[in-house]
Amino acid sequence: MGKIKNRYFVIRRSSIHSNGVFAKKDISAGTPIIEYVGEKITKAESDRRAGIPLLKHKENNVFGAVYLFELNKRHDIDGFVPYNTARFINHACDPNCEAEIIRGHIWIKALRDIRKGEELTYNYGYGYEEHEDHRCECRTKRCVGYILAEEHWPKLTKVF
Ligand SMILES: [Zn+2]
Repeated sequence: MGKIKNRYFVIRRSSIHSNGVFAKKDISAGTPIIEYVGEKITKAESDRRAGIPLLKHKENNVFGAVYLFELNKRHDIDGFVPYNTARFINHACDPNCEAEIIRGHIWIKALRDIRKGEELTYNYGYGYEEHEDHRCECRTKRCVGYILAEEHWPKLTKVF
């Protein structure tokens, strides 16, 4: 992974999960940091890929759904490709970045000013249905224990 070059970040081991993306300089709020790239696919193909197990982890399997990103009503982006560095960005319940679609491209933007050395994170925005399969270990003060879109947080009965 030493070949990945970007002016804003480096990839290294993360205490949240596996590898993470870390700011190598101060980044101002609103800066588009990296594009979430991948294969543009139809919703039907996306639904098919969502159920395919990709990797076997200690705790659980990682399914294709993890890397699928909604682009618009007709297409999704499948980010499970080697050239998609943004796939290394971890989820956090109190993130410093957010995903935004700008003219048909998914950008990970700084949500606030980020200091050099901070790990970049965004809320993956997962739905409520299968939240128990996606535990969160971001350890931020706002952590709800699951990787879950904030709009669903009020439905959680057990807060960590
Ligand atoms: Zn969390």
